Amino acid sequence: METRDYLRIRYSARLGAAPEAAEWREYRYAGASHHKQESVMRIEDLPREGGCRCNRVRLRVAHAPVMTMACHCTGCQKMSASAFSLSALFTADAFTVTQGSPVIGGLHGADRHYCCPHCMSWLFTRPHGIDGFVNVRTTMLDSAADFAPFMETWTCEKLPWALTPAVESFAQLPAPEDFPRLMQAYAELTSH
Ligand SMILES: [Zn+2]
Ligand SMILES: [Zn+2]
Repeated sequence: METRDYLRIRYSARLGAAPEAAEWREYRYAGASHHKQESVMRIEDLPREGGCRCNRVRLRVAHAPVMTMACHCTGCQKMSASAFSLSALFTADAFTVTQGSPVIGGLHGADRHYCCPHCMSWLFTRPHGIDGFVNVRTTMLDSAADFAPFMETWTCEKLPWALTPAVESFAQLPAPEDFPRLMQAYAELTSH
């Protein structure tokens, strides 16, 4: 089996699996699941629009993301008021704020977390040192279901019952040299 098919089946199975059945090996040959779930991974109909809880800030992404992620770190647990944050990483040229004026939130540190000034929804992050990318909070997109997380980070801090369909897991963050491989695998999964 080619690596791409292997990964796709593994990912499809996890997207469709009940939590107790999330162990991918059980689904290694689940071809039916693969076909049923393929549309979940396909990202078409671009550009996509999005907005905050009160809709005073509106967003647009013009291209598909280069990566989709869940982060289990305690900082993301606080900021998302949930078990983990969800995000989709876009090249900066693909991203536009089409309405409203987001303000800085979170720790006001090197990573710039932008929020709606009225409803305070956490909208997107401009990570320190990588100006070429914007990390958009997936649930701010009007079609969040299409952006299932491909990788998850900071599992060392995750809540013990928190599960995602991610097929790549990292105790903290992947090494910088891992990113080309991860982006390539994600692109191949979502490019059909
Ligand atoms: Zn708002
Ligand atoms: Zn985090």
